[in-house]
Amino acid sequence: MKQHYKYLIIGSGPTGLGAAYRLKELGITDFIILEKEDYVGGLATSFKDEKGFTWDVGGHVQFSHYKYFDDLMQKALGTEGWLNHQRESWVWIKNRFVPYPFQNNIRYLPKDSLWKCLNGIIDIYKHPQTRKPDHFEDWIYATFGSGIAEEFMMPYNFKVWAYPPKELSYNWIGERVAVTDLARATKNVIMEEDDLSWGPNNTFQFPKYGGTGAIWKNIGEQLVGMEYIWLNKAVSGIRANEKKVLVNDGNEISYDFLLNTMPLDKLTTITDLAQNGISAKASELKHSATNIIGVGLKGKPKAELATKCWMYFPESNSPYYRITVFSNYSPNNVPDINTQWSLMTETSESDAKPVKRDTLIAETIMALIEDGLIENAEQVISTFKVSYDYGYPTPSVGRDEILNVVQPFLEKHDIYSRGRFGGWKYEVSNQDHSLMQGVEWVNRMELGIPETTLPFPGTANAMWGK
Ligand SMILES: Cc1cc2nc3c(=O)[nH]c(=O)nc-3n(C[C@H](O)[C@H](O)[C@H](O)COP(=O)(O)OP(=O)(O)OC[C@H]3O[C@@H](n4cnc5c(N)ncnc54)[C@H](O)[C@@H]3O)c2cc1C
Repeated sequence: MKQHYKYLIIGSGPTGLGAAYRLKELGITDFIILEKEDYVGGLATSFKDEKGFTWDVGGHVQFSHYKYFDDLMQKALGTEGWLNHQRESWVWIKNRFVPYPFQNNIRYLPKDSLWKCLNGIIDIYKHPQTRKPDHFEDWIYATFGSGIAEEFMMPYNFKVWAYPPKELSYNWIGERVAVTDLARATKNVIMEEDDLSWGPNNTFQFPKYGGTGAIWKNIGEQLVGMEYIWLNKAVSGIRANEKKVLVNDGNEISYDFLLNTMPLDKLTTITDLAQNGISAKASELKHSATNIIGVGLKGKPKAELATKCWMYFPESNSPYYRITVFSNYSPNNVPDINTQWSLMTETSESDAKPVKRDTLIAETIMALIEDGLIENAEQVISTFKVSYDYGYPTPSVGRDEILNVVQPFLEKHDIYSRGRFGGWKYEVSNQDHSLMQGVEWVNRMELGIPETTLPFPGTANAMWGK
């Protein structure tokens, strides 16, 4: 076992694999990935439960902003390895499905709610907010009006983020939230038109076999090579001044440059730099946990669910904020598509929104029945549960000020922290962004090309479709 590498990478999720793939592409082999789990892929992994149902860590959809990522996806699974889907997402509210984006389809609401929403939009046109919003809640009211805010945006966003929207900033939003257009909303009501297509992800592709995890498994095994990825090796300490990492098996490995993809706050607690106050600063970053419940079912989904991809749940009767009809993504996500189907739910958690993990499966099944997605508990033939304490990097008020102190400090010690929780920027934390953060980091280190995605998320996201 070599004890020194030019590049040492912590974590084999999309970011670490992106960096490794790019290094090899440039002909560089003096690197190693240390991964604490016994599998690659990080949060983009997939599991097969005992009954043979496949599950992702929440509905993973590919919507790439980069040609490099698209090309790599083709290499990972081949052109035959994908299924293509039309995005169909809905909001379940007031005992009915409303097509997403909610604000364009308020005609589906009962008349009193519809009027409340329209009146709120008219009000923001009559009295537009001229000052910059203070936080996400402020932005929601200024952008959608009080009706849509109270009926959908506020309850839904609390359920997703697990923090009150006033604790979040709004400048991460960019393309992610479709903004209200009074003329469009009114026309849709009067003409009784549905308004479904929105944003970058109105079509998407999904692996035919093995769930999202198959992509990253193949990249690790076929394109990078498992000789460069050491599994079951948790980094437990970093002596930054000596440029050494300590591994849980007692090994010490030195490096010239360290790429970290574990959560940034955790990283700072295992370095010997804590006395500089850096760990205290990073501990101010907020995040939420994610709980995934998979429900394998016998029979067929009811007709209403036959073509739906995912659904949003703003109401407080259910623990989940989103459900994916996972058997619609690939028939191979269930053992026998002729007699089985599957739903995958996501429930967020934080100190501000505690979750009873022990009873979550039972609560979820009860809510699925209440929401009319399944008829009874006898339909359930398999359940699966996985929880990750780090699920969503919260774009909290003050986040960038913290990152602007912590990241440059670490870089002075040749520690570069990238990816979903390494970079902690939600707006560039999907698979494509994460992979490209790894690739761009290598381009910077080896070719002197400045990075885009992490320092300039808006620029990276504007590249969609180009
Ligand atoms: C609920 C949910 C839904 C999502 N939906 C989508 C979607 O629809 N589309 C999309 O593109 N993306 C989606 N994502 C995001 C996607 O999962 C991430 O973009 C991606 O996994 C981030 O990759 P990463 O490598 O930065 O981090 P991670 O995947 O978190 O990988 C980090 C790796 O570091 C390892 N590690 C941590 N600590 C140590 C240590 N001490 N020593 C060694 N190894 C360590 C971990 O085990 C892990 O393998 C979703 C994520 C979640 C949670």
